[in-house]
Order: sequence, then C-alpha cells, then structure tokens
Amino acid sequence: MVKVPDSDNTTANAIIAWHEQKRERHRLHLGASLIGHDCDRYIWLTWRWAMTPEIEGRIRRLFDTGSREELRILEELKTVGVELYQEADGQIQCRDETGHFGGSVDGVGKGFPEAPKTWAVLECKTMNDRTFKAVVDKGVKAEKPQHYAQMQTYMGLLKLDRALYICVNKNTDHLHSEWVHFDDAAFAKYMGRAERLMKMRQTPLKISNDPTHFICKMCSQYDLCHKGKIAEVNCRTCCHSIPLDNGTWGCDYKGIVISEEIQRVGCEAHLFIHDLVGAAKAIDGGVNSTEYVEPSGKTFKNQNGNSRKIAKRKVISPQEAKSSEEFYRPFNDDIPF
Ligand code: SF4
Ligand code: SF4
Repeated sequence: MVKVPDSDNTTANAIIAWHEQKRERHRLHLGASLIGHDCDRYIWLTWRWAMTPEIEGRIRRLFDTGSREELRILEELKTVGVELYQEADGQIQCRDETGHFGGSVDGVGKGFPEAPKTWAVLECKTMNDRTFKAVVDKGVKAEKPQHYAQMQTYMGLLKLDRALYICVNKNTDHLHSEWVHFDDAAFAKYMGRAERLMKMRQTPLKISNDPTHFICKMCSQYDLCHKGKIAEVNCRTCCHSIPLDNGTWGCDYKGIVISEEIQRVGCEAHLFIHDLVGAAKAIDGGVNSTEYVEPSGKTFKNQNGNSRKIAKRKVISPQEAKSSEEFYRPFNDDIPF
C-alpha cells in the first residue's frame, strides 16, 4: 500500500490551523483569574490591552478541551444531587463596584455531599498529571495561588463563604475536589491590588529585568518587556483614556465616553502611555509629546512622562458615563440564596 506522504496539508493540521486563525479579543474587564499573578505589570498590561497574546492552534484547542471538561463536570455534579445556579450563557458574571474588576464564575451550587445546605462558588480546572498531583499534595492555595485568588474574589463579590474547587487530571481522568473558605483579609488584599492597578496611569515595574527570569519566560507579554516590542494602538494604551463608573471608559482629550468599538481601535489623537513605546527611538521633542521612530523607520508621537497639560480640556464625570456595551450587571441576588 502506498503510504500517504506527510505534509503540512494534513487533516489534523487543517484543524489546528482553524483554531490558530481565531483572533484573541482583549477582555473588557480586569479578570479575577489574573489578580493572583506574580507580576503587577502583567495584570496591568493585560488590562490595558498592550499586546494580544499569540497562542498557537494546539494550545487554543487545549483551552477548548478545558472548557468542554467544565461542562462535563457540571453535568456530573447534577447526577450526584447538586443543584446548580447558572445564568443563561452558562456562567455567572460578577463585578466589583467600579464595574471593571471581576469575572465569570463557572457556577454556584448547593447540595454537595460534604455541605448539602449551603450555596458555594464552583471552580473547575483541568491540569496535567504533575500539577494535579502537586495540588492533591499541597492544596490549591499553595500550588495554584492564582486559582485561590480567583475563588476568594468570586466569594467576596458574590457574598458566599465557601468555594468548591474541582480539578481533573488530563492524563488519567482522576478528580480532586477541595473546599476553600472565604478569607476576608485575602479578599481585601486582592481587591486592593485591583484598585491600585486600575488607578495606575503609568506602567508598573517589571518583576525582573532579567529576560531569563522564569516567570517572564512563560509570560505572554514577554516581547513588550524584554524584546522592545511596541504596544498595540487602542484607547487602553493611550494616556488619555480613563476608567469611569459602571465599567465604562472616558477620553480626557475629547471629553467623551468611549465605546467598546472605539476603544478597540483608538483614534488619530492616540498618544502612548509612557513606557509602552518599546525599542522606538526619540527623534523630536515637544512640550507634551515626543516623536519616535521605530526600527522599521515608521514614526509616531508619544506623551512626555507625566505631562497632563492636555487634560485641561473638559473631563467628563462618571455620572455622564453611559452604560458600557459590555453586558454588565452587578450581582444583585436574583438567584435563590
Ligand atoms: S514579561 Fe515579566 S515583567 Fe513583563 S509582564 Fe511578564 S512577568 Fe511581568
Ligand atoms: S485620544 Fe483617541 S485613542 Fe486616546 S483615549 Fe481618546 S479616543 Fe482613545
């Protein structure tokens, strides 16, 4: 039998390529799933849409596998008598009082064998064999602090006192479930961190200037921090954008609330937040801005340090802010607990 030659044009590669071409969209809010990350700068750059992570097709497919597994766990929980509360799109949106910080909770449930009467946040994760064993051994707080922070944030925002963490070993299909109790001090710490980062109008310091630092090497913002890449142009990377109430954003140059569509593309008046210009070199200086040239020869302008003279124009108040186009609804206890 003639062997079909290997080529890039295989069916498997076509599927992976289909996953790869899907474009990542920046998330509107600062996600609770990030707030336990080691690096302030990573959280801030993500919140400020500095760079779209490049994710290979295989990894995107792996993420999809994780999402499908979560649905399976939810179905399985029903079979053991757990009553689940979810919203129409399958998750529960929760936000802090600014409307900018929060996340999508996998579910809220009651009727778990260990605690049948109390509603709890549900957090489902899939992981490889090594990580799974470490979580079983040391617990989620020690081994997966980002997941722990995510659950503390959800519990605090939803006013629930416990969370059930369920993880799946992707290699063996073993399950591990662990109860996490609400910790007031931990919640306050994560809320405080989110508030501090959301108020920052300058880029936080790097966790390390060493490009071989183990956290940086795994980081999707690596090219910005260690390879001189210039950030993307959109309103979030512009020094004129400011977060307002109800998850909305304003522009203190134009004095308007900026819609999601405008935020995603920016405008001709875009000025980079200081320190987002990567390897570009300054070629001309003005009172408020400096002109830069990229290694490619292209030129652009950027704000000068903390100069805010231009902000003397009308600044809108949060009360003037219209609703964001993002579906935003504070968790206001429509659910039965
Ligand atoms: S590359 Fe390093 S310094 Fe930059 S955001 Fe990531 S972890 Fe932080
Ligand atoms: S100046 Fe333009 S890019 Fe900057 S925040 Fe305003 S609308 Fe967005």
